[in-house]
Amino acid sequence: MSSPSRSEAVKTVANLVVPPPREAVPAELGEYGSDVFDAEVMQKFLPKDICTKLQATIERGEALDPAIAGDVAHAMKEWALSRGATSYTHWFQPLTGGTAEKHDSFLEPSGCRAIFSFSGKNLIMGEPDASSFPSGGLRSTFEARGYTAWDPTSPAFIKRHSNGATLCIPTAFCSYTGEALDKKTPLLRSIQALSRSTRRLMKCFGLPGDEKVSVTLGVEQEYFLIDRRFYLQRPDLLQTGRTLFGAPPAKHQQLEDHYFGSIKTRVLNFMTEVEQELWKLGIPAKTRHNEVAPAQFELAPVFEDVNLACDHNMLVMEILRQTAERHGLVCLLHEKPFAGVNGSGKHNNWSISYGGRNLLNPGNDPHQNAIFLTVLCAVIEAVDRHGDLLRAAVSGAGNDHRLGANEAPPAVISMYLGDQLSDVIDQLEKGAPRSSRHANTMKIGVDTLPTLPRDATDRNRTSPFAFTGNKFEFRAPGSSQSCSGANVTLNVIVAEAFDRMAETHEKFGKENFNAALQKHLQSLVKAHKRIIFNGDGYTDEWLKEAAARGLPNARTTMESLRCLNDEANRALFEKYQVFSTRETESRFEVFLEDYHRKVRIEGQVALEMARTMVLPAAENEYERLLRTLCQAKEAGVKQGSAAVKKQAAELGALLETCHGACAALAKALTGKHEEILAAMAELRKSVDALEKVLPDDLWPVPKYREMLFIM
Ligand code: ADP
Ligand code: MG
Repeated sequence: MSSPSRSEAVKTVANLVVPPPREAVPAELGEYGSDVFDAEVMQKFLPKDICTKLQATIERGEALDPAIAGDVAHAMKEWALSRGATSYTHWFQPLTGGTAEKHDSFLEPSGCRAIFSFSGKNLIMGEPDASSFPSGGLRSTFEARGYTAWDPTSPAFIKRHSNGATLCIPTAFCSYTGEALDKKTPLLRSIQALSRSTRRLMKCFGLPGDEKVSVTLGVEQEYFLIDRRFYLQRPDLLQTGRTLFGAPPAKHQQLEDHYFGSIKTRVLNFMTEVEQELWKLGIPAKTRHNEVAPAQFELAPVFEDVNLACDHNMLVMEILRQTAERHGLVCLLHEKPFAGVNGSGKHNNWSISYGGRNLLNPGNDPHQNAIFLTVLCAVIEAVDRHGDLLRAAVSGAGNDHRLGANEAPPAVISMYLGDQLSDVIDQLEKGAPRSSRHANTMKIGVDTLPTLPRDATDRNRTSPFAFTGNKFEFRAPGSSQSCSGANVTLNVIVAEAFDRMAETHEKFGKENFNAALQKHLQSLVKAHKRIIFNGDGYTDEWLKEAAARGLPNARTTMESLRCLNDEANRALFEKYQVFSTRETESRFEVFLEDYHRKVRIEGQVALEMARTMVLPAAENEYERLLRTLCQAKEAGVKQGSAAVKKQAAELGALLETCHGACAALAKALTGKHEEILAAMAELRKSVDALEKVLPDDLWPVPKYREMLFIM
């Protein structure tokens, strides 16, 4: 027996001819946003007064005036038809973590002819059959209806396939009783909550309390690309998104020659097409590069309003997957597709601006400086108080293989500020501002706060939550996850910290505001500085130190989700009207079930692969060795027999171990998830050991060295 399909795949990939570089064609931006129902299109397709009303709704995030819905729907339809779309769908984000759509055509039969029509009602609300989406008990089958409601703050867009196109209307998804069944609803609620708290806090600084608050998000998306021919031969990748077996090749990422290396032409062709597709959708893809692991890459767009950025990230993932297919590749978004090399995350760059000014931008003048330090201290407090919630927000079966597995970033949530900002915080704590490391002190009225360094942060890739110049970068979210969960949590915990801050500041007198502020910030730093850590987050010393500081370290999804049952946490979400207690409970149920299902599926796939692919290959080889021994004996050849005998014995021992591990996994599959995970890890050891000794042509599935290096 040999594995012809594996070697065929290698040959085919080897024979791929990448087209030569193209001739110079002047680049154009004409296509940018061409598939988005944006302000420009609205002006073209809508009467002026209605356009103004719609814009105001979008700007202020208010409910749409039902009286104009009909006109807006008509304009959208006309535009969609002009762009080749004949169907529409409410596009939403159920708790599966993906996106959902149910298409309806604009077609309306009229006698023996038909017209295209689209009503205001169809735009504003939809009623998909919701019974099969996870609801965590929120929706019993007798009230299975769910509603999708248009979110005008995220523009409608067109999705194309090879012979048609569909108008997609971003929507929130709720139950009959108004409970959130999706990822968008709580995000919109959390933005409102944080906006309220921000305005309140800004008033304390004498600013008008009615300016626009924007929460901004820039998402760096990591992913792997492998040739589709290899992918199709790996049942584990097909069914679980990650390799359940695979011995690490001699060379993987230890030479660090992939990170920021020159991008292979085949990959660059893929990336270019991804960018073209994203630009059409008005998604500002900006940066592309090789990542640390072989076959790992990253894409980052320019930041946008968080709601839009979250929608856009869902589209980014979809377009990465679809474009890969057209290039004979597969895009793996799993957090840990390959053991032994880096996993993939989704760096969540978060900031908040008021009246167009970034509150996390260290200021130039004393007033701005004071606001910056206040916001910074509030975020420090928020992350220290609620690190457990941030950890829970990024939990999941896939991400468990990154967080808590001695990989970046660790499961302990800590905050990196960099040397200079830490120095500033130190000074605040000591209450005796002196010259900061690189600059003079700066006066705020009668009191002094240190001058703030601009953009002076170092790079620390090991911190899960790092200040990077004018934003916080939360690095724990997993590459496959929706950004919504992390940002809902961030928004709520910061809203709470802002409110606490405002509650104190509102009591300060006008004359001694600065002195009181300084004192208050000092007390906050004292109380919460344990969260600040600038060192290497990968080390065991840090884990010990973190434990000594009392920082939680939830290594697994199960451990991390527990905090959703805490009264105080439920009350927090309830207070900010982001999740009712019932909604928090339902999410806990959904996440837990998702986790259990994924672990069980992995266990079943691993067992099947071992029994039907790996063991037969090993037994073949064992048989060959035994035959060789018999033949040697018959022929009376002694030389070599001892070596073959030894080899057969070693293989026999491995076979036994592997059989035993299969039996143990089969038993574990009737039990708890911890047992399944442990049994899978044991089985993997013996399978990977077999991979290393069996003749290469017998190995039934593509190896790491092929998947990661042949492209
Ligand atoms: P890095 O060096 O970590 O790659 P970049 O400066 O390239 O950092 O930014 C990473 C992401 O952060 C980008 O998506 C960028 O648009 C985003 N970003 C920059 N400023 C802000 C901000 N004020 N709010 C949110 N995201 C931001
Ligand atoms: Mg970054």
